[in-house]
Amino acid sequence: MIGAWPSTRKPRVRCTDLSARRRTRPRIAIVGAGFAGLSAARHLGRGYSVTVIDRSPWFEWLPNIHELLSGVKRPADLRLPMSRLVERAGHRFVKGEVSAIDARSKHVVTSSGRRIGYDACIVAVGGAHDTFGVHGADRYALPFKSVDDCEAIGRRLATLARGRRESSVVIVGGGLEGVEALGEILRRYRDVGKLRITVVEGGPRLLPGSPSALDARVREHCEGRNVRLLVRSPVTSVTPTRVRLRSGEVLRSDLTIWTGGVTATPLLRETGLARSGRQWAPVDRMLRSTRLPHVLVAGDAAGLPRPLARQAYYAMQMGECAAENAARMLAHRAPRVFRPSPKPVLIAFGDLDTFLVAGRSVIASPALSALKEAVYQVTMARFDPPLGAASIRSLARRLDRGVSVPRRRSSPRHRA
Ligand SMILES: Cc1cc2nc3c(=O)[nH]c(=O)nc-3n(C[C@H](O)[C@H](O)[C@H](O)COP(=O)(O)OP(=O)(O)OC[C@H]3O[C@@H](n4cnc5c(N)ncnc54)[C@H](O)[C@@H]3O)c2cc1C
Repeated sequence: MIGAWPSTRKPRVRCTDLSARRRTRPRIAIVGAGFAGLSAARHLGRGYSVTVIDRSPWFEWLPNIHELLSGVKRPADLRLPMSRLVERAGHRFVKGEVSAIDARSKHVVTSSGRRIGYDACIVAVGGAHDTFGVHGADRYALPFKSVDDCEAIGRRLATLARGRRESSVVIVGGGLEGVEALGEILRRYRDVGKLRITVVEGGPRLLPGSPSALDARVREHCEGRNVRLLVRSPVTSVTPTRVRLRSGEVLRSDLTIWTGGVTATPLLRETGLARSGRQWAPVDRMLRSTRLPHVLVAGDAAGLPRPLARQAYYAMQMGECAAENAARMLAHRAPRVFRPSPKPVLIAFGDLDTFLVAGRSVIASPALSALKEAVYQVTMARFDPPLGAASIRSLARRLDRGVSVPRRRSSPRHRA
């Protein structure tokens, strides 16, 4: 059961002095400014003293990071400075790694020892890269989880494509990220005969959980190309030049890309929000932590009573709901139940295809790539409205690349 809602009283004194007013406004701390944390911050008005803490200076648009592999997008297209976004919303941004939550005194504590008091706290720290304990994977497989990760993969691909000898790329994971990575590699390198690509998926088909027509469609696109698609093939170990499968087969690999695999961050257990290391923070239907009072959890980190796909748009919806419930809690009003509104999923396959998946229905067409681009452009512009010179420049750059970069293969850009 969740602890009592806090007994914070509404300020008794009407203040005209700004600093006194800041002191009397209820304090909300938001830990993590990704999709959920940022949406929560944007949802809270200036009637609260909101502090947003994140270890990164950048908000990253993860749903399009696969496009860094082909050069269709550049790092600057996918990043926005968090301080600008948070301060625009009228709140305070603190760059720091949160290492503890002192629920008794209601403080968030950073690794540098800074203590930030709160009346309500929203935890939105996302998930962590997971290689499931596969031997060598942490060391030798490149993760696919951030702009820096994908930029590094893009550079390595460019080096291999320029080399004289035949090279092998192994993509571990045939889920959404693995398929999108394969699509981008094909967009840019499908005519580079010496680059061989293998996708290995542990489940029975590509894009597990999606309609089986998608597996067939991806296979069609790969026919006649240097691509091997292996399913029911869990990986047992990775070395600098090899990937071993449970079947005993050993694949040569000059570049191993580890996609998929997300787990709860250790912070959830360390703060007491979760019981064990791999557990997501359990919450009730109102997104309140079932373990720490005055704390709500939103986005990937939340262990909902009815699990939901870990997707950006659900994280944004949760962020808004958590913000609203923090405000209700502080006003002693009943919280509202989080009701996700499902949206279709868009899966890009380079310039060859894009799939729109709504439940069991699929529409496939390369023309749908414009829709994925539109979602990216509109949401980035919503997070960073073009109100100042820096935001306008940033918007112009994104639009310019979105319109002028051919959605087919781009010209070579990466340098080794
Ligand atoms: C490669 C890839 C492709 C994806 N594609 C799609 C897609 O096409 N469509 C879709 O809907 N979803 C997609 N997703 C999933 C989507 O990105 C996530 O569901 C979403 O990012 C979750 O939002 P969040 O706010 O919970 O976490 P995040 O966006 O991960 O944000 C968490 C924030 O918390 C911060 N943080 C973490 N720990 C700490 C700490 N201790 N102290 C301070 N700050 C901390 C991090 O720096 C980060 O800014 C994709 C994910 C990946 C990795």
